[in-house]
Amino acid sequence: MDKKDYGNLYLCATPIGNLEDISLRALRLLREADLVAAEDTRHTIKLLNHYGISKPLISYHEHNQRTRGADLIAALKEGKTVIYCSDAGMPGISDPGADLVRLARQEGIGVSVLPGPSAGITGLVLSGLSTDRFSFEGFLPRNNKERNDLLERLAAEDRTIILYESPHRLKRTLKDLYKYLGDRKISLARELTKVHEQVLSLTIKEAQAYYEQTEPRGEFVLVIEGNKSLAKTFDFEGISIKDHILTYINKGLSKKEAIRLTTRDRQIPKREVYQASIGIIEDDSGDQD
Ligand code: SAM
Repeated sequence: MDKKDYGNLYLCATPIGNLEDISLRALRLLREADLVAAEDTRHTIKLLNHYGISKPLISYHEHNQRTRGADLIAALKEGKTVIYCSDAGMPGISDPGADLVRLARQEGIGVSVLPGPSAGITGLVLSGLSTDRFSFEGFLPRNNKERNDLLERLAAEDRTIILYESPHRLKRTLKDLYKYLGDRKISLARELTKVHEQVLSLTIKEAQAYYEQTEPRGEFVLVIEGNKSLAKTFDFEGISIKDHILTYINKGLSKKEAIRLTTRDRQIPKREVYQASIGIIEDDSGDQD
């Protein structure tokens, strides 16, 4: 079939707890679609039933992605309209939706998004922490080395950090956050948009103490204040670019991170900062010319 006759793939955002959080456009397209693919058909059927929509439903999740991906692409190439819904929220954010988009794009198939809720953005806005600049990190890796490497990097992150976490891993994550990031403000949001929605604004240490007494329940969005000591620009008037970089390195940051922050502080092109950094080695104490 000619590419112009291919069907379109829609990524449909679905409610993260409150069934009313779905757009009119999403409902119309769900009614008109030929096929609905779902990360968990049991979740999606509840949504479809609630709105009286009856559609052929097939699963597409991390364990059947390869075979099902090929089936979905075949259906799209036959001209069918396919809608993908993940368990909750915006498909493609910490779920298999992103792979489906990649696959469709590789085949020249049109992709559209039916926008709606995403747990990370909802938790961020409710946190009361800075929303100006943020770093969405999804779930922390389970592999120890990858996890520790990322946490080390996050210790120097000056933007607000957003994480997803499940209840049975929350305590370990709070322990690791305290170890690598120190005591900072954290917002713990659970059951977002549901009747028992709860947003706790604590420090990481207080959160650890709280969850020693209370069993974590429900899925969490953790929003953590960025590294304030680095976010606050120091007075760099009169100091050279190189000394500026070295100030950060002497605070324990990597050269790469020091270059990033120096570029941010001085609002100059990154290549100028790179140029000034030539010859600096990570454990340089600033005593070379
Ligand atoms: N694609 C989804 C989105 O855009 O929100 C996220 C998918 S990810 C597999 C699921 C995670 O989102 C959960 O483990 C939890 O961290 C977070 N989450 C989803 N719904 C939530 C809710 N109602 N309250 C708090 N966190 C939620």
